[in-house]
Amino acid sequence: MNKYKHIYFDLDRTIWDFDKNARDTFIDIYDKYNLEIIFNSFDNFYNTYEKHNDILWNDYREGKIEKSILSYKRFSLTLEEFGINDEELAKKIAHDYIIISPTKKELFPFAHETLEYLHQKYNLYIITNGFNEVQFTKLKNSDLDKYFLEVFTSEDAGAQKPNPIIFQHALKNVNAHINESIMIGDDLQVDVLGAKNIGLDQVFFNPDNISHSESITHEISSLKELQEIL
Ligand SMILES: [Mg+2]
Repeated sequence: MNKYKHIYFDLDRTIWDFDKNARDTFIDIYDKYNLEIIFNSFDNFYNTYEKHNDILWNDYREGKIEKSILSYKRFSLTLEEFGINDEELAKKIAHDYIIISPTKKELFPFAHETLEYLHQKYNLYIITNGFNEVQFTKLKNSDLDKYFLEVFTSEDAGAQKPNPIIFQHALKNVNAHINESIMIGDDLQVDVLGAKNIGLDQVFFNPDNISHSESITHEISSLKELQEIL
């Protein structure tokens, strides 16, 4: 018999298709501010943004910069690389991104049917490093909030995955025993090894079949496979 009672999900790139939704949001923003004049092509804008965003998110995760800096600096550095020094425009884009992106609804295939199946058998929760205001809006707009009993954000826990503090906070908060719980996520370091590090079982959601040499409880390339495991 299955030993699990509590299932913890990551949200971005595990259920909610972050990359498609972000790209879609930036197409809206690119048109709104006529960024073609600055960047010449959408890909120039988007690729430059992604580069700065990755670097700044790492700094944020390591506690080197504040959320307020991350949220506009990724755009001001993108603009600067194309010769534009306009902090006001960067802040407007940052604001729009936070407002528009959580209204996008693209999910990974089988998200709803898998969650429909799982939430009848288990207690489901989210553990996310995303910003509170964005993550709650995403869940509501995509009609996902009905499946989850609690959403644990890094802002509320005071620590980001893979820090053990956020996993322990999420377990303790609902009196979940670690041996009856499992974490599902797309990020090998942050979700999977973060969970493994405290002795929590893991499912690595690996839709691109990225090769690795870690020993993991379960690995899947489609959410549909969860119905075989759980
Ligand atoms: Mg993720």
